[in-house]
Amino acid sequence: MRANLHEIFLTAYRGLRPRAPVPEFRVEFYPFANVNNTIRLRDSRMHVRISDLLEGAPESVLEAIAHILLAKVYRQPIEPGHSTRFRRYVASKDIRAKTHLVRQVRGRKRLGSPRGFIYDLEQIFEDLNVRFFHGLLARPQMTWSQIRSRRSLAHYDPAHNTIVVSRIFDHVRVPQYALEYIVYHEMLHLKHPVKLRGSRRCVHGPEFQAEEKLFPQLEKAKAFLKQL
Ligand SMILES: [Zn+2]
Repeated sequence: MRANLHEIFLTAYRGLRPRAPVPEFRVEFYPFANVNNTIRLRDSRMHVRISDLLEGAPESVLEAIAHILLAKVYRQPIEPGHSTRFRRYVASKDIRAKTHLVRQVRGRKRLGSPRGFIYDLEQIFEDLNVRFFHGLLARPQMTWSQIRSRRSLAHYDPAHNTIVVSRIFDHVRVPQYALEYIVYHEMLHLKHPVKLRGSRRCVHGPEFQAEEKLFPQLEKAKAFLKQL
C-alpha cells in the first residue's frame, strides 16, 4: 500500500466522520478486468480495492475515489465535485485506451455469451457503471435472450443475479442509446432491490424514477422503444 494512499483514505474518512473512531484501513490496487473499485467494512476493518488502472491517477482523483467509496459505506451523499472529477478522469482517452487493452487480456469467455453480433452487453454494463454508478455496481451475469422477445425487453433476475436483454436489441438498426437505456433501467433495479410487495415484479419507486431521469437520452430512447 502506498503510504500516500492510506493517508488519502484517512483524510477522506475524517471529512465524512470527524468524530467517529477510525477503522483499520487495508487499501490495495487490484487487477480487475475493468475500472472497478470495491469497499467492505468487516470486523471494524475497511477493505478497499482500487482498480490498478487507476494506479497512476493524480492525487485529486484518488481523493475523489476515497470520498465516493466511504460515502457509499456510510450512506452519505457524494459531493458532486468528487463525482465529476472521477468521471472525467475515467472517461479520459488514456484511461479508456488502457481499459480497452486490459479487457482483451483479462476478460474471460463464458457460456451464454454476453457478446451479440453487434453489441457486447458486458461492455455496455461497464460503460454505464462508470458513467452513472462510479463503477460501484458488481456486474451480474449479462446475457442475450434465446428468443427475440418483444413483450419482455429486459429483465433483472435477482435469484440468478442475471440481466437478460431481448435479442431484438442486438441489431444495427438499434441505436446504442436505446440499448443503454434498457440496461440502465435494469441496473437501477440492481441498485434498488424490490421489497416483495404482492406479486409485482417491477417496482419503480420515487428514488428509482428520479435516477432514471438522469439518463441523458431518456426521451429519445423511449420514443425509439415505442415504435419497436
Ligand atoms: Zn423496471
